[in-house]
Amino acid sequence: MTETATSGANVKRALDHKVLDGRIIGQEIREAVAREAAELTAVGWPPRLISIVVGDTDAALIYIRNQQRVAEKLGIAFEQRVYPAETTREEMLAAIAALNADPRVTGIIIQRPVPSHLSIKELQSAVHPMKDVEGMHPSSIGNIVYNDLVMGPCTSVAAVEMLKYTGLRLEGLEVVVIGHSEIVGKPIAFLLMSEGATVTVCHHMTRNLQVHSRQADAVFVAVGKPGLVTGAMIKPGAAVIDIGINQIDLPDGSSKVVGDADYESCYEVAGWITPVPGGVGPVTVSILLRNLVTAAKLQKAHYESAFQGGFAPCAPAAAPIH
Ligand code: NAD
Repeated sequence: MTETATSGANVKRALDHKVLDGRIIGQEIREAVAREAAELTAVGWPPRLISIVVGDTDAALIYIRNQQRVAEKLGIAFEQRVYPAETTREEMLAAIAALNADPRVTGIIIQRPVPSHLSIKELQSAVHPMKDVEGMHPSSIGNIVYNDLVMGPCTSVAAVEMLKYTGLRLEGLEVVVIGHSEIVGKPIAFLLMSEGATVTVCHHMTRNLQVHSRQADAVFVAVGKPGLVTGAMIKPGAAVIDIGINQIDLPDGSSKVVGDADYESCYEVAGWITPVPGGVGPVTVSILLRNLVTAAKLQKAHYESAFQGGFAPCAPAAAPIH
């Protein structure tokens, strides 16, 4: 069966069960993305994603390959730009400025990690907000504070999207978010507040995690500590959305990837749970590509409105490619 043909029935099947399967949920989003990408291409605005890698990429290679594979499956151009580890701050900022000014580039992603002499925050802030498909530019983060979700941070949007698939009514829902990083925990809290949920944010200084987590209808965990949340720490029937990605070593010398929740004990108690791998991760890639389509539409609209005014715009959004 083709990937496109799987979606409808399988999404329903996944939702009948307590496991929120990110591969199936992500697929539904991708089908819409593929349609919109084809429409944009037909009118001369093909979405094109540039992936910036600086230095050694081994840690991120598996994610990058996956992004590329999914993009290409959807008919979206994905281009890798690899810079040597010793590239200077000024050279990187100049490279990003050039991509901002190139009308054929509709989205830019800066792969983590970057060498220690560079600041990921500074590089992400240098990406034009209309090409910020990661949703990490300060103006994209600011938008979610104002309930204006244009291109939100991919992982956070994906995690909230998974909660929506439970069918739970978000207004007034008691939600605990464990982890308050700028890239995951804090944006999740803002996104949930804009949906009307009552949000408690816990972090490394929280005195008693389970006092909070046991009250919650939904628990999001984004910490990076395997087994941090156990079944004893959640309310029966609650949704557990696990964002953690941890590689652990097994006694036989092999290794495996697990989340922050102890899957077996949480599965027994939870009403819904996201597996790791195969949960939030695949939905995150789908949101990245959905943001790319949104970015292309924004740039198209910007270009058209500038031309209506009787002048051609300069950077960042200008003529489509023919
Ligand atoms: P981070 O290190 O920036 O932040 C960790 C957060 O956990 C902090 O807010 C800290 O206060 C909190 N914390 C630490 N110890 C704690 C404890 N004992 N109890 C409660 N809170 C505690 O991490 P991050 O970048 O937000 O990533 C978190 C996890 O999510 C990692 O495992 C990372 O690999 C994963 N991640 C997944 C995706 C995805 O697409 N699924 C994307 C990004 C990050």
